[in-house]
Amino acid sequence: MGIADNISHINERIKSVCDRCGRDIDEIILVGVSKTHPVEKIVEAKMAGLYVFGESKVQEFLKKYEEVKGVRWHFIGHLQKNKVKYIIDKIELIHSVDDYELAVEINKRAEKINKTMDVLIQVNIGKEETKYGVYEDELFDFCKRLSELKNIRIKGIMCIPPNEDLDSTRFYFKRMKFLFEEVKKLNYDNFDIEYLSMGMTGDYEVAIEEGANIIRIGTGIFGERDYKKEDIKNE
Ligand SMILES: *Cc1c(COP(=O)(O)O)cnc(C)c1O
Repeated sequence: MGIADNISHINERIKSVCDRCGRDIDEIILVGVSKTHPVEKIVEAKMAGLYVFGESKVQEFLKKYEEVKGVRWHFIGHLQKNKVKYIIDKIELIHSVDDYELAVEINKRAEKINKTMDVLIQVNIGKEETKYGVYEDELFDFCKRLSELKNIRIKGIMCIPPNEDLDSTRFYFKRMKFLFEEVKKLNYDNFDIEYLSMGMTGDYEVAIEEGANIIRIGTGIFGERDYKKEDIKNE
């Protein structure tokens, strides 16, 4: 199947999950995770109606950004502080704020260009040493510290759950939904909680059932990457 077929297949599945659980399909943002895939495939996906793409490496993103116009970009990988300056004016949403110093740097670079940068907090929901993100027991302290940073706007939370069976994945997603509702209750000036980013190729239907409104799909749209899933954790 080609990319356009993959996208329409996924859209149909999103629609049937939404119908089944009484959700509005317009609530769901599909991010096409284009990391490792060439520009031609992104253009193909764009022609098929996809308009948000997720990248996880700064160098690779910058090259694609120059070559593909008229789409929106999300940064979904671990972001090094010293690279924030290259992407700050080009990215619509950073999914992966996992550390206070990183947030401070994003805030500083955003201020310099008079921007308020939309970000999500990455939660290490399975408390895995191999993954980035704040632990849930640190989340509310972390939020409090972020509330001082006026040039970032906290739009929600994101996770990559442990690679286990779908029942445990669902458990982690439920936990995320709970945290999402709790974070929504905070009334810090720079918090405008709207997004729960969770669900990838293997589990996006479960994610939607449990309340996700941003899903990030790579393989299901673009096919296999030439490196293994294990690498996702450390990008
Ligand atoms: C690679 C990646 C995805 C996409 O994974 P697939 O299983 O290929 O859909 C989603 N989110 C993040 C953070 C990723 O790094």
